[in-house]
Amino acid sequence: MGTWDYSIFWKETVNQLKNELSEQEYTMWFNMEYETSEELSIVVSVPSGFYRDQVKQRYQGRIEGKLYELSGHHLSVDFEIKQRSKNTAAPSSASQDNIEEKEEKKSSSRASQAQPRVIDQKERGKHPQLREDYTFENFVIGENNSFAANAALAIAKNPGTAYNPCLIYGGVGLGKTHLMQAIGNLSWKEQGCKIIYITAENFTNEFVESIKNNKTTDFKNKYRNADMLLIDDIHFLQKKIETQEELFHTFNALYDAKKQIMFTCDRPVSELKNLSERLRSRFERGLNVDLQPPSYETRCAILAKKSEVRGISIPVEVLNLIAKNVSSNVRDLEASLTKLVAYAELTKKPVTLETAQQQLRDVFGAPKQNNVTIETIQKVVADYFSLSYTDLKSKKRTKAISFPRQLAMYIAREITEYSTTELGMEFGGRDHTTVMHGCQKIEERLKAEPSLETTIQKLNKLIKDYNS
Ligand code: ADP
Ligand code: MG
Repeated sequence: MGTWDYSIFWKETVNQLKNELSEQEYTMWFNMEYETSEELSIVVSVPSGFYRDQVKQRYQGRIEGKLYELSGHHLSVDFEIKQRSKNTAAPSSASQDNIEEKEEKKSSSRASQAQPRVIDQKERGKHPQLREDYTFENFVIGENNSFAANAALAIAKNPGTAYNPCLIYGGVGLGKTHLMQAIGNLSWKEQGCKIIYITAENFTNEFVESIKNNKTTDFKNKYRNADMLLIDDIHFLQKKIETQEELFHTFNALYDAKKQIMFTCDRPVSELKNLSERLRSRFERGLNVDLQPPSYETRCAILAKKSEVRGISIPVEVLNLIAKNVSSNVRDLEASLTKLVAYAELTKKPVTLETAQQQLRDVFGAPKQNNVTIETIQKVVADYFSLSYTDLKSKKRTKAISFPRQLAMYIAREITEYSTTELGMEFGGRDHTTVMHGCQKIEERLKAEPSLETTIQKLNKLIKDYNS
């Protein structure tokens, strides 16, 4: 000790990286503290093992590269885990809080630490419509969702001002509902405001009921007096013309009163069909942010979080195995975990790599289970029109090919979750507007030519039976 001191190189490295990384990334991961120097290494402390693994993987090479540039020595970085009490930790994002809390829970000395809770929380109990476990603490932030999660946190802290309205969109099981409810839960506790969470489907049903019972005034009052209105899955509103109309007016009333409005949707608003233009423009106002599927590292972290929240212990290598094999979305990840836990409880045996492999064989084996692939649609449609699959995907634009191609695009839009952008890629690298145009053409033809509907039904059946 004492003979070597590389602290200035460490400081400069961190400084440089601060300039090179986004602010989000920097705050999320650079919660490292210089501890000491050894002959050819620097020891820094991090708040947890999970954190160490993440940082190693993401930045170790880059940090060591910089250290070499600055010092001319091949200095390595060694990590040491050091619990920190909350008040001394660097500014933290929700994910860091998660990690620190996990460490703190393990520590029995926690009770003896001074615990200045950041906010004097009004103890309001549980919100009737919100799931208690859908919190920011339980939400793992990765590169796929950090923008959405940070926006959500800002909204929860400053409803009606930060981002209003806000719309989060993305595929099934990527955490839209969780984030939305996390906002609700936090604002409910901290802001003490009137929060309504409802799915677009229930909103529609309630509205229809209110008409039936001559209670539309009550309905309007309820929604137009909220401080925060959270409407989940607005894609459900497609074709619901009167509900759209009602929501439009609710939106305006709340927006004018600077109340927070928030939506989720399974696709970008531009891709919603059968939606009034004026409501569409309301959805698009404010912030629209998307959720992407999580990377392998984030999937590992989510699984670790989920097992922790449920109070179960599963070996890391099993969690990694699941993360490696289930990449579609978080809901499927959780389902695998649930299956293993159920098995372990039933057999009273611990979960091992072997049992996991055995138990999750079907899940791993069939990546897009129950999900029709675009390839299947293309093959079936091509076959039906006696074309080759390659022609259907090609750039050829003869009539004999364009129509089946447009039909395939239309069907893919109807029965899969793929966005027009993704579909464009699958159809020979076309632009998403081409896909939209193709779908429109079919819609027009459907109006003029009802028999086309029968063809589509036939194709749908063939597609469904294709794999069985
Ligand atoms: P969506 O509404 O987008 O279909 P959900 O919010 O219902 O998805 O998420 C599905 C499941 O995955 C939920 O149990 C949720 O808690 C979990 N989940 C999704 N993303 C995350 C995340 N980043 N961290 C922790 N859990 C997540
Ligand atoms: Mg949802």
